[in-house]
Amino acid sequence: MGPVPGAREELDRLGHALRAQLVDLIDDLAPGSDLSPLHLAEPEVFDWHDPLRYRYSVGCFTGMRPANVTAADAASRAAALLGSAGWAVATSREEVGGTVRTVAIGRRHGCGIEVRAVDHMTTLWFSGQTPAMALYEPEEFQHPEPLLTPETVTPGYVLCYECDGLGWCHDCGGRGWRPDEARGRVNCPACHRRRVCVICRGAAELAVTDLSPYQRGYYPELGR
Ligand SMILES: [Zn+2]
Ligand SMILES: [Zn+2]
Repeated sequence: MGPVPGAREELDRLGHALRAQLVDLIDDLAPGSDLSPLHLAEPEVFDWHDPLRYRYSVGCFTGMRPANVTAADAASRAAALLGSAGWAVATSREEVGGTVRTVAIGRRHGCGIEVRAVDHMTTLWFSGQTPAMALYEPEEFQHPEPLLTPETVTPGYVLCYECDGLGWCHDCGGRGWRPDEARGRVNCPACHRRRVCVICRGAAELAVTDLSPYQRGYYPELGR
């Protein structure tokens, strides 16, 4: 799988810009917060369809607004800060089940940031994500070669009747998953991610002396 030229660099650049913007917002709106949870690790897979698309995201960072700042003030301050940094901003204020919630949303270069505040708590919620990007070129799956053939099977053994010497799960070809239209990938229903053949457990061959009467039925050449 070859990398898409420049894609990882671009995603990293967007991720660092996103983090820097969140740090600016949190420092201003919830001063004194511990910023260590904002550390960017590796981009996560957001979309499991081929080619996989990755993104950086901050799910939900919580901070406290000063008691003299209302929820609405905090959200409009967030919108002003985002706007002055070049983000397209929208704010909304709605009541859900007796809770008045104010939200500021910013968008820039495919990135999104959301700051949420509620009237009866001093907690502020910050979240953000980069766009999801393909980092690797799609590649046709190459089915693996059999581990063993009639020429290489161990004396006293027979090729596994289930995988015929492949060793790997023949349903998924050893990947442990199968493509799925809705979800992109699903666990292989045959091997349940074990990846190897469920009968020979990856050995590709079975000892003749260990065959059950039922299994011997697959090998008429062994006689009775
Ligand atoms: Zn499988
Ligand atoms: Zn097998």
